[in-house]
Amino acid sequence: MRDGSLGSIHSWELVTAVDGPGTRMTVFLNGCPLRCLYCHNPDTFLMRDGEPVEASELLRRMRRYRGVFRASKGGITLSGGEVLMQPAFAGRLLAGAKKMGIHTCIDTSGYLGANCTDDMLDNIDLVLLDVKSGNEETYKKVTGRELAPTIAFGDRLAARGIEIWVRFVLVPGLTDDPVNVENVAGIIEQWGSSVTRVEVLPFHQMGADKWTSLGLNYRLRETSPPDPELVESTRAIFRSHGFTVH
Ligand code: SF4
Repeated sequence: MRDGSLGSIHSWELVTAVDGPGTRMTVFLNGCPLRCLYCHNPDTFLMRDGEPVEASELLRRMRRYRGVFRASKGGITLSGGEVLMQPAFAGRLLAGAKKMGIHTCIDTSGYLGANCTDDMLDNIDLVLLDVKSGNEETYKKVTGRELAPTIAFGDRLAARGIEIWVRFVLVPGLTDDPVNVENVAGIIEQWGSSVTRVEVLPFHQMGADKWTSLGLNYRLRETSPPDPELVESTRAIFRSHGFTVH
């Protein structure tokens, strides 16, 4: 595992119109340092719960889908869990995919951005960056960790001109305060033209059963998904800052 030839993954799937442009092979890596209250993949929290898989095996699969990626303007997305928990493994997959001319993307909270080497960044075309809150206190409440590493990672991506799609999960009573949303907009505005899209993702209850079956304490059982008006007013805040919002 140390040299990245072996990794721990939850699963992989072929998806279209999510996790980046076109048809994508999304690989879910196991292990995450955050504990987001709304996480819908709590079965990826621990690295040891994943399946061991060789990087070469995944790269062979990617090679098989090259035609699909080319035709759909898609590629690969490394997601999780947190992809940067296994930087050597992720680095191998990204380098291998890039060598085959495949568009590459990582889906990350940025919390472990320091694990991402400049060489890795050279092999990344797009980052789906979760900015889970615009203020420290809420970020800590949502994730159990600090906001600063995410901002530092976004700064680094922007400085290198790497494309960013920002993702923000809208949870009533937790992240929906307009001041919080304004703060997110203020942070990502610093990244200038690197941010080509903002996705406001309405909270849902689809992960609830997983928490229960893992014996974990799910604290959002009583939280309802945001109503359409709240989703729209949140998107409008990002739009008012000039972003393309989905
Ligand atoms: S960063 Fe993602 S995988 Fe990790 S706890 Fe949060 S939502 Fe779950």
